[in-house]
Amino acid sequence: MPETQLKVKLLAMTPHALAVIYAACRQCYSAERAEEIFVRAIQGIPPVHEQEAFVRKIVASGHESVIEHVSFTFAISGISRACSHQLVRHRIASYSQQSQRYVKAENFHYIIPPTIANQPELKRIYEETMAELQQKYNAIVAKLEEAGVKGEKARQDARFILPNACETRIVVTMNCRSLLNFFALRCCERAQWEIRALANEMLRLCKEKLPAVFAEAGPKCKKLGYCPEGKRSCGRMPLKERVIPLQKGKDKPVGSV
Ligand SMILES: Cc1cc2nc3c(=O)[nH]c(=O)nc-3n(C[C@H](O)[C@H](O)[C@H](O)COP(=O)(O)OP(=O)(O)OC[C@H]3O[C@@H](n4cnc5c(N)ncnc54)[C@H](O)[C@@H]3O)c2cc1C
Repeated sequence: MPETQLKVKLLAMTPHALAVIYAACRQCYSAERAEEIFVRAIQGIPPVHEQEAFVRKIVASGHESVIEHVSFTFAISGISRACSHQLVRHRIASYSQQSQRYVKAENFHYIIPPTIANQPELKRIYEETMAELQQKYNAIVAKLEEAGVKGEKARQDARFILPNACETRIVVTMNCRSLLNFFALRCCERAQWEIRALANEMLRLCKEKLPAVFAEAGPKCKKLGYCPEGKRSCGRMPLKERVIPLQKGKDKPVGSV
């Protein structure tokens, strides 16, 4: 069955993440060396809940450079190439993505959007299209190989007909600051459903591991207290112009002329 589903695994994160951030924060205001603060922090001095409270306060104040010292690495599978294209637009990150040149797509897996999966007739058309593309891809690879264009050289050209729906696998590393930005943009209801599902799952894992940084993370409206998306707002939060009074004669509500 070539249909596939989102899977996100946390491969690794910076060891002693809370103590690293705590030591980095404290270094800004302390005559001590960071390594001394760090060693005490991992011994529980001050207690973890105090370190957490301090880090929460610093993060809430917008002093976000200190959380760049901690990174998370995720193994992601079961997402479409349409989704990974959006993901890799987040430049403050490192990526290693499965190649369509080196990995044969002779039996590619694919993602079915729920709007299509929920309608039997549409689903049938979709699956038939995938099967047809698969057949054509295999035929092109075979013909190229017959013509002497072998292996990755054949695959790198045959892949031009593969759909955005194709499953891809990717390893992503982001530091906490970049993750907060990623969640602000991609947990928003305005984000496309697949990358939103991915972001929500990554956020769940981050919250579990490092609540001092991620407990309040989520769509940008959560931090702002309003929605900046104008008429495209999901309605969960009041619109920006309702919360921040417009400057007379200068600002206009989004969407106005
Ligand atoms: C709902 C939604 C719709 C979108 N629609 C489109 C679309 O139609 N077309 C499209 O092309 N993209 C679209 N995007 C992608 C979007 O424009 C960003 O490219 C993407 O979200 C990555 O965000 P980022 O630049 O903040 O992240 P990162 O690249 O990780 O950058 C993080 C932050 O670093 C800073 N930064 C990074 N690079 C630079 C730089 N060169 N100069 C100055 N500051 C920098 C910025 O402060 C930036 O916010 C959409 C995104 C969302 C969430």
